[in-house]
Amino acid sequence: MRVAMVSEHASPLAALGGVDAGGQNVHVAALSAALAARGHEVDVYTRRDDEALPRVVPLSPGVRVVHLDAGPPLPLPKDALLPHVEALGRELAAALLERPADLLHAHFWMSGVAAREAAASVGVPVVQTFHALGSVKRRWQGAEDTSPPSRVSVEAQLAGSADLVLATCRDEVRELAELGAPAERVDVVPCGVDLDAFTPSGEVGGPPRHQPHRVLVVGRLVERKGVEDVVRALALVPAGAPGHALSRTELLVAGGPAETQLGLDAYARHLRDVAAEVGVGERVRLLGRVGHGDLPALLRSADVVVAAPWYEPFGIVPLEAMACGVPVVGSAVGGLLDTVDDGVSGVLVPPRDPVALAAALGPLLADDERRRTVGLAARERAEQGYGWARVAARTEDAYRRVLARTPAAAPAWPAAAPGRRHHERHHQEQA
Ligand code: UDP
Repeated sequence: MRVAMVSEHASPLAALGGVDAGGQNVHVAALSAALAARGHEVDVYTRRDDEALPRVVPLSPGVRVVHLDAGPPLPLPKDALLPHVEALGRELAAALLERPADLLHAHFWMSGVAAREAAASVGVPVVQTFHALGSVKRRWQGAEDTSPPSRVSVEAQLAGSADLVLATCRDEVRELAELGAPAERVDVVPCGVDLDAFTPSGEVGGPPRHQPHRVLVVGRLVERKGVEDVVRALALVPAGAPGHALSRTELLVAGGPAETQLGLDAYARHLRDVAAEVGVGERVRLLGRVGHGDLPALLRSADVVVAAPWYEPFGIVPLEAMACGVPVVGSAVGGLLDTVDDGVSGVLVPPRDPVALAAALGPLLADDERRRTVGLAARERAEQGYGWARVAARTEDAYRRVLARTPAAAPAWPAAAPGRRHHERHHQEQA
């Protein structure tokens, strides 16, 4: 198959850890590479955000990144991209006429809009992965949600009109049903983890330890990732048995801008203020963004990785920690409900609850043997369900089911007129 991935703001070439560069970038790059390893050709279409970027950049064997001109060739916040999505759709359609694809796989809602525009002129099916839903974001962030106001209704339309929606966890299936997505056109395929890079054995990195125990958080420095709750929990971790010195646990936070730029980041400054206020300023260290290649070594240096989001569409970081054999204490939300087997491969606690976080962390930090057992179970769980090869095989199955259901689309290159499928979609949207 030739697959056209559409990832409007999240280029697989972007540096990770910034406000808008995280799991989706990793997902698109790794899934594309794993599909290519199964013999498919993958083109990843993304918006040009730098005029120096060549039109086509080879990413990995069988995978190319294609930059489409839509809006100014500058970095723009993802919530400012909607006005350029129509242009992106036109550019995508033109690119697909030159180099046809069997199927479009759109990542995030605005890619879905562009893919739908392009599919209407080239007549190929569209698979949609939302990565995050506006309805969930609005629920949690209320007035602070900077998404375009139309997001929720457009997502509902996309969920109703895509040939298939790939949810990344069971919790998302429930959310999609609430949006009106027909159950027979929703499948679950999780995000994955690179099981060869994220391993229990290997180099141990990160800054030298200053305390007997190390807790690590990795993620974009945005409020909903709950880092503030982890800082507050650190102050509440109970003192352990003699020799364990639990009150001397350090917290490292990876993510955000480069370390030298952290002083300019309002949220980073806020975290430092909170740490000082609750008396753990000396034991919290913000590292700034860490290169993805350096993360396995950093993860291995931790006793426990905490992922305490308010909500989480999937959460690749907990999986990366699990693959490294590091126990995870996480919020019982979204993808973590599937990836972390509570009490076996990690511990789940309610979101936004520093007291519960501390109550989970204390006993785990105090018990070396339990951490070892949980770490072993975590690696096993990652191996069994979440390697990218397995995720790519499941994705390929989903693509095949879509192609089998839409025979009209199969030979439609490149001269296909908008035709019947377009009209069907149009009716669904009017309905
Ligand atoms: N990441 C990274 N360096 C950083 C921060 C994050 O490489 O400094 C990576 C991390 O390893 C993971 C991804 O960014 O692969 C974050 O994905 P996740 O699904 O956990 O969160 P999202 O960013 O999608 O909300």
